[in-house]
Amino acid sequence: MTNINRGYDLTPDQSNPPEFNHSKPKTVSFLGLGAMGYLMAKHLVDKFETVMVWNRSFEKAQAHAEEFGTLAVCLEQAVMADVIFSCLPTSDIVDQVIEQALPHLTANSVWVDCTSGVPQQAKDCQATLRSVGCDFLDAPVSGQTSGADSGTLTAMVGGSATALAYAKPAIDCFAGLVVHVGESGAGYAVKAVNNTLFAINAWAAAEGLSVLKAHGVNPSDALDCINKASGQSFATLATLPDRVVNRAFPKTFTIDLMAKDCAIAIDLQTQKLVPTPVMAQVASLVRAASNQYHPGSADFSEFAKYYEKMSGITIRDDH
Ligand code: NDP
Repeated sequence: MTNINRGYDLTPDQSNPPEFNHSKPKTVSFLGLGAMGYLMAKHLVDKFETVMVWNRSFEKAQAHAEEFGTLAVCLEQAVMADVIFSCLPTSDIVDQVIEQALPHLTANSVWVDCTSGVPQQAKDCQATLRSVGCDFLDAPVSGQTSGADSGTLTAMVGGSATALAYAKPAIDCFAGLVVHVGESGAGYAVKAVNNTLFAINAWAAAEGLSVLKAHGVNPSDALDCINKASGQSFATLATLPDRVVNRAFPKTFTIDLMAKDCAIAIDLQTQKLVPTPVMAQVASLVRAASNQYHPGSADFSEFAKYYEKMSGITIRDDH
């Protein structure tokens, strides 16, 4: 792939942003129908003249077409759309797919990547897409698979305001909130820090509930109080009660993806010499927990089982 530069630099890219002389996208496509993409893509149906889907394992694209009325197509055809979405595990995989897609893109299209990716790689992708008259937005999302299902995700977008204005009617189909957070890479950066904050809260909640259990307090009773008090967080409101205390650990966001997000945040702090002892500690603990599982096999909430081995206390109710 051209224009690859792995130095971390979030200064604005001034290279030839395309002019969007057509007012509204008519064709859209979605690449990557995983836990998130499968649900996000369904919200595009009936909002555009053509909605195409592509997935590496093509059966998933065919299943999507059957279930929602999208058009399952090959990659070469999918990337001819006016707005192309992708939601893939990592930026390296996005790079590979863009490299394959590049000769088939239509000028003035916008590639909107909803992967939780690496900020510098967004700038590289933007330069590559601009070299063929298109543009690239990093637009990672938050809200879990439930938010993807209900079309209420939060999208944090980096890149040109003009490209975002063009693509926004399509992003709005699956997002309840779309925020332009800055230049190319800024969306990925916000997402990495957001997920690291989530990991910190979840890890801290597991510690707090274990201390209380050691003192004879049931985790559910403690959560009833904490969730109406100042110690609450998304982790205490949802992750701990709905995944850990009830021992369900449903696999919707795998722990290796969380470890990747924390590592991206740590690279960002290293680049600017910002001391972040808490983020670094929890990123390392999440990596250690992730290493206990095969990639893709365990939900993020299974970090608690790793911590339970350290503490010797199981975070569930006794009565
Ligand atoms: P999944 O693992 O469920 O899906 C991954 C998708 O990428 C599948 O469609 C898979 O295709 C495809 N894929 C994997 N490797 C390749 C490859 N080498 N070439 C082409 N396609 C490939 O991931 P999620 O949907 O959970 O996550 C996607 C992104 O969204 C990640 O960056 C994640 O961090 C982020 N995210 C996830 C959330 C969640 O709750 N799950 C929430 C918010 C963001 P195939 O079907 O063939 O395997």
